[in-house]
Order: sequence, then C-alpha cells, then structure tokens
Amino acid sequence: MAQYIIRLDDLCHYSNLEKWNRFFDLFDQYGIKPIIAAIPANRDPKLICCGPYNSDYWGLLRRLQSLGYIMGMHGLDHVYVSKDSGMFKFNKRSEFAGLPLSIQSQKLAASASMFDKEGINVKIFVAPAHSLDHSTLQALKRVTRIRIISDGLLPFPYKRMGFGWLPNQLNEAETREKGVWTFNYHPETCSDEAFTQLKHFIENHHTAFTPLNKLRYHPYRFEQMLTEKYLIYKRCFYEFIKSIWQGAKIYVPVYHKP
Ligand SMILES: [Zn+2]
Repeated sequence: MAQYIIRLDDLCHYSNLEKWNRFFDLFDQYGIKPIIAAIPANRDPKLICCGPYNSDYWGLLRRLQSLGYIMGMHGLDHVYVSKDSGMFKFNKRSEFAGLPLSIQSQKLAASASMFDKEGINVKIFVAPAHSLDHSTLQALKRVTRIRIISDGLLPFPYKRMGFGWLPNQLNEAETREKGVWTFNYHPETCSDEAFTQLKHFIENHHTAFTPLNKLRYHPYRFEQMLTEKYLIYKRCFYEFIKSIWQGAKIYVPVYHKP
C-alpha cells in the first residue's frame, strides 16, 4: 500500500497567511503533519510581494512545530545566485549549487543559527529550486545537524552519502499503488481547483499519510543509481521536447509514473 507525505514550500515573513491557513486547517482536521519548507531571511522579490510583513513569523513557526509539523530549512534567503541545476537537474537556478563549499557553509550556518536562536528544530533540508550539489551536502554535515534531504525521484526513501533522502516526486496529490510519495504544494500559487482536489484526496486517503519516523529507508545501490539517472534524464528529455514544441498541444508528463 502506498504511503504519502505532504510538503508546503516557501513559508516566510511575507507569506499570505490566508492561503496557508486553509492548508493548516485541512491537515489539523485529519491529523496530518506536513513538512514546512521555511525561509529564515527571505529576500526573494517574488515572495516579498505575497503579503504584509509578519512580525510574528517565528511565533507561527513555533506554533506549527508544537503541532508536530516537520520543520524544513528552505535555504537562507531564497535568492538564486547561480545557474547550476545541481544533482537533479531540475531548474537552472540555485541558491547553493555551484557555489564554493566555504560560501555554502556560511549560508547554511547563518540559516541554522537563525532557526536555533528562535527555538526551531529544523530536521530536513529543502533546497530552493530543488538545486543542491555535493558541496551542499558536505556543508550541511559540517555546520548543521540536518541529516534528511527532501528531494529525489525514486519511489521510496533511501540512504545515500550519509543522508536519508525523502524523494519529492509529485506536484499534486495522486493515488499510487505502492511506494512513498511526497506531494509538493506552494500555498501562495496553489489554485482553488488544486486545493479542492487535495481536500478530496485527503478525505479518502488520510490514513495513508505517514509520520516520518515510521518510514523505512532503502539502500542506494547501483541499480537505484541507474534508475534515478534514467528518471532525471527522461525528465530533461521531456523538458527539452516541451521547449521545442512550446504552445503545441502535446502531452508532456513532468514526473514519472511507476
Ligand atoms: Zn522555494
């Protein structure tokens, strides 16, 4: 039987809380504990214009943490300073990938100390734009206690390079037969239709949402490495075709199906 996880991205001082509260209310109704990808010091202009400055941002994070929500470090300021697509080749922009280890360490240490100072125990790293590289992993080990990454494409969690990986495969809720699937929502831009679809999904499948401490991590062997590379390059190929046929009505799946 499939297990599900849900992740909400981009909570920051400027979030439109009305849009976020509808997700929180839904999760609380069914006892679902999502991963919250929180930005400690947002400077991304497209997120600054979402809502008024929230002077109680850290209080909000502490309340969510006390409800059992899983707190994730979503970078430091969410500003893309490189065009490196990192290990997963998802987007050609990054706050971290492609930067020297020393710079990545400084940024991650600054982020970790803000969360620590405010009493937020961040357990998971969520790379902005899904873009991280080997130096990001090294820096996380050096300057933070985080040992879980929310990213990847395999249909189950795995252990690799000293981290537990929780793959983040789908943008919206979908029924699967087996495996562990993370649905990644962005409350600021989520449409009413997508939210209603999630609501119906949760009404029918809320017992399949799994606490992170119940997950089993698989080994990452040669076979898993090949499968993941295949999924990465398959998606790159679809994106390439999509860019050529932009505007044409063709079916281009963004994520793989098992
Ligand atoms: Zn983000």
